Amino acid sequence: MESRNQANILAALIKELGTDIVTPGIDVAPRYFTGYGEAPGSRPLALGRPRSVDEVSRIMRLCHRIGVSVVPQGGMTGLAGGAVPLGGEIVLSMERCSGIEEIDAAASTVTVKAGTVLETVQEAVRAAGFELGYDLGARGSCQIGGNLATNAGGSRAIRFGVVRDQVLGLEAVLADGTIVSSLNKMLKNNTGYDWKHLLIGSEGTLGVITRAVLKLYPERPSASTCLCVAPDYQSVVALWQQVRAQLPDASSFEVMWSDFYRYVSANTPGVRAPLPAQQAFYVLIECATAVHDATTSAARLESYLGAWLEAGLVSDAVLASSLQQAQELWLIREGLAIDELPNLINYDVSLPIGLIGEFAERCEKALISRWPQVVSLFFGHLGDSNVHIGVSIAELPGEGVHAVDVVVYDVVSAMGGSVSAEHGIGTHKKPFLGYSRSPAELALMRTLKAALDPKGILNPGKVL
Ligand SMILES: Cc1cc2nc3c(=O)[nH]c(=O)nc-3n(C[C@H](O)[C@H](O)[C@H](O)COP(=O)(O)OP(=O)(O)OC[C@H]3O[C@@H](n4cnc5c(N)ncnc54)[C@H](O)[C@@H]3O)c2cc1C
Repeated sequence: MESRNQANILAALIKELGTDIVTPGIDVAPRYFTGYGEAPGSRPLALGRPRSVDEVSRIMRLCHRIGVSVVPQGGMTGLAGGAVPLGGEIVLSMERCSGIEEIDAAASTVTVKAGTVLETVQEAVRAAGFELGYDLGARGSCQIGGNLATNAGGSRAIRFGVVRDQVLGLEAVLADGTIVSSLNKMLKNNTGYDWKHLLIGSEGTLGVITRAVLKLYPERPSASTCLCVAPDYQSVVALWQQVRAQLPDASSFEVMWSDFYRYVSANTPGVRAPLPAQQAFYVLIECATAVHDATTSAARLESYLGAWLEAGLVSDAVLASSLQQAQELWLIREGLAIDELPNLINYDVSLPIGLIGEFAERCEKALISRWPQVVSLFFGHLGDSNVHIGVSIAELPGEGVHAVDVVVYDVVSAMGGSVSAEHGIGTHKKPFLGYSRSPAELALMRTLKAALDPKGILNPGKVL
């Protein structure tokens, strides 16, 4: 009976939209149901690949009428399972809704379709003398729509804020196919509810993002990057305070704990450890300025490094003398080498900055007391109060990932932190949303979901 019903739905979709847009589930390539670094999820009923907002709207209108669930999908680099179908849905890939519509130099904005890959936008705006206010390691695959839907963070948040702070205008398709559009370019616009902020960070559960207007900043060609060693966590925090006070052009303050640095610098092809391993903390600081004066940024950073060394906040440091050296420092921090660890589980949590050192100690202790052979590697965008943890247990116990999640999130919750700093909730963190949100907040989220998607067809089983 069910398969007959599914055949009818498929036939209705193909009749309405044609086989160029709709692919039956049986023919869908695994990349449309496999999350980054994960085993394949469930095969969808069909794949929809619309080319325009009108086609997105037609798909949503039909699915709303016949009651079929839809999973909006970007570049599939999200690390929370949000874009992976759970079985029987229509996957709505935005990959063909791509392209840059306009760079408005006077307004300092770029208007872009949601399926455009982040790196494509970065290159286009750079050619026009601008840069975007955010950057992520997944830039070559992730899409603007995915970045907005997850309210991504990235490595420039201390300077420009997170993705939410970059969005001036938005266009989206609601669950019933209604197109809502406000491609605003003005910094100030207080006309009623600012609905775009509901969709940003909603992980495809409240609407399909189809276009956006993003802020642009003057390109900052003279960048300087250093890596320093801090002897203890107190020094890391004191260093962060100095950076905030003394280096207004700082855009990254990234921290690596000793084990992470040692593992990644030993296992990243083409990279030699620029500073000896076995130190307590490694801090990567990047400053960049729009002023075309190569000495400005580097000289200032060098003189402050000297002062920090004298004050004992830093015990060793290296300043990149070329773009290639800077890229090598970033390669270590991006830490892709840890993806090779067996049964790797990635965590993405945030806590008040002053508590993160203690959090790492408590979390590691809790993991070791349960699994003595565990490898736990700590690193992150510390200036944003965000720490990532790579946890690898070669012989994962019968209870699986959930048991490890409970250990980590119990410590996060006990210390007043958030179970997701930037990757979102998806399916992976859904059982733990209540660790970071109160019952009243969860009830409000359900009210908003019911108002915008009364039939519950948009990405069901995710977030709430
Ligand atoms: C190597 C690497 C480094 C990373 N670094 C960072 C980092 O520094 N900071 C950070 O925040 N994240 C980071 N991530 C996570 C990931 O890149 C981001 O979450 C990214 O924003 C996801 O974009 P995507 O297009 O791949 O979205 P997907 O994975 O396809 O989807 C993510 C969620 O958004 C929804 N969605 C996608 N497109 C739309 C749309 N058009 N409309 C509505 N909903 C939509 C999906 O349903 C899903 O819930 C990293 C990932 C990797 C693999």
